[in-house]
Amino acid sequence: MAKKQFKSESKRLLDLMINSIYTHKEIFLRELISNANDAIDKLYYLSLTDESVDIDKDDLCIRIDADKNSGILRITDNGIGMTKEDLEKNLGTIARSGSYEFKKNSEANEEIDIIGQFGVGFYSAFMVADHIVVNSKAFGSDEAYSWASSGADGYEIMDCDKQTHGTEIIIKLKENTEDEKYDEFVDQFRIYGLVKKYSDYIKYPIKMMMAKTKPAEKEGEKPVEYMEEEILNSMVPIWRKNKSELSDEDYNNFYKEKFFDFTDPVKVIHTSADGAVSYNALMFIPERPSYDYYTKEYKKGLQLYTNGVLIMDKCEDLLPDCFGFVKGLVDSADLSLNISREMLQHDRQLKAIASHLKKKIKTELESMLKKDREAYESFYENFKRPLKFGLYDNYGADKDFLCDLVMFYSSTVEKLATLNEYVERMKEDQQYIYYACGESIEKISKMPQIELMREKGYEILFFTEDVDEFAVKVLAKYNDKEFKSISDSDLNLDNAEVESKDEDKALFELMKEALDGKVVEVKASSKLKSYPVCVSSAGEITIEMEKVLSTMPGNEGVKAQRVLEINTEHSIFAKLKSIKEDKDALAKYTKVLYTCALMTDGVSVDDPTEFTEDLCSLID
Ligand code: ADP
Repeated sequence: MAKKQFKSESKRLLDLMINSIYTHKEIFLRELISNANDAIDKLYYLSLTDESVDIDKDDLCIRIDADKNSGILRITDNGIGMTKEDLEKNLGTIARSGSYEFKKNSEANEEIDIIGQFGVGFYSAFMVADHIVVNSKAFGSDEAYSWASSGADGYEIMDCDKQTHGTEIIIKLKENTEDEKYDEFVDQFRIYGLVKKYSDYIKYPIKMMMAKTKPAEKEGEKPVEYMEEEILNSMVPIWRKNKSELSDEDYNNFYKEKFFDFTDPVKVIHTSADGAVSYNALMFIPERPSYDYYTKEYKKGLQLYTNGVLIMDKCEDLLPDCFGFVKGLVDSADLSLNISREMLQHDRQLKAIASHLKKKIKTELESMLKKDREAYESFYENFKRPLKFGLYDNYGADKDFLCDLVMFYSSTVEKLATLNEYVERMKEDQQYIYYACGESIEKISKMPQIELMREKGYEILFFTEDVDEFAVKVLAKYNDKEFKSISDSDLNLDNAEVESKDEDKALFELMKEALDGKVVEVKASSKLKSYPVCVSSAGEITIEMEKVLSTMPGNEGVKAQRVLEINTEHSIFAKLKSIKEDKDALAKYTKVLYTCALMTDGVSVDDPTEFTEDLCSLID
């Protein structure tokens, strides 16, 4: 009998499959199991709607046989089966929406992606097969047919003598090459792993004969090897079970196995919805970030299932960046297996699910903060960065959503505090939420500006991360209270600004000149107690922001407007006044003091040589 040719679009797809360089060839098994599942579903449905169809539900199953010696893998189902016409129509052409999408995309890369994300059904078996035979007998028919193909050169359909209804896919695997191994697909442990990974929740049992060993009964005897049929899949997804049926251990084991973690999650979020969108979701907050979480390689996302079949391993659109550390999965029957990735992004159902989940995660974190402060603080230490970045991302689109989840070290309680706690403790006349920036808590504690503020009983939040100040700049206000850096030149403390006396103003002018444009002002300070000098900034950009911004390309010119503040109560001020007439000496003192002020603020010295020379000549 002459070979029939595949329809042209099918041929293209086949060519791609046969020559696929796609690394996840393993997904072919998922596709074939998913087809088998559908075929059994169809028969089962028929039995529910047609009384003459008499089947025993308990017999329905999928069987996998792997023969290492011959390199043959067989997947059998006792589902609805295919007639001769079905074989011709279904396996001779591709008329699926997924394939249609595929056809439209001519870029090779995109084609590969489609294989990865959604599979292309039956044809994906040609990624691993030299030759495929499909024997099938439609339910209720007396005839069985065999479809056979080695790929691009077409296919044949012949009679065969299959006894039972259903379909049997026989795959002769390709020979191993230097780069590619195919014999792994007849390895029982590999198959077991693949079923667990992709098809664990298929409703019907997936059975396979597995080699077992029993320890020898008597000493000196060899262990006994035997074959036993095993069901590889657990059949009921844990996320479809009732919460009351599940123990912490069930959740923890599932999490660790599925998401390759050694430690139990700190929070399990098991939720579902029925209505306009229906889904089951199971999410976990890990105790620690995964090793790659803070690298560019990390990909956030939840696994996406539809009807128990995994269609995407990391669906990014299901998680916002601020919660990118969450692991988990969503199962929704409303999604089609065949939709392309672009369509998925615009899928309304998916968007609705993502928005539900985002709120849900926040609620859970808030309740953890309320009920188990210790756990929350340790979570926060690990995942504060995405939350703070979330405040300022997208021009603060999520700032109100996230502002109650962030915490900063507080000078008053000497541990982490929320913004709400700060505001509740604010003094009656206090206008601002004060913060101080620095490298570490220790360094901030030693800032000259902080001493007096503390004495007056103001609480100060310590910002030790680059993102902190930017985040509150975007936040602008919390509970109607503005944020203010204690390094701001007008701090508006309760004692009001110390007015520079007229007689001192001339001195300050001379000092400003000596600094030759480095500062916009020299003035008497209201925020110093025992320290002689400090720098502050006027305007929007603080010295801390300057430090961060200047490390980014294109921002080299960004400068804070610096103000040199002098403690007029300090003996050094008397000294300055006394040498006012000596222009040279005053200039040296001023430059040295300015450099000292910058150093206490953690800014590196522009010209250490000049500084040293000035200092030495003053000591001399
Ligand atoms: P899809 O399953 O997405 O429709 P496939 O290329 O995998 O695409 O399969 C094409 C068609 O072949 C299926 O729609 C189904 O009608 C038929 N088919 C595939 N495998 C089986 C099977 N094991 N039993 C019955 N029919 C099958």
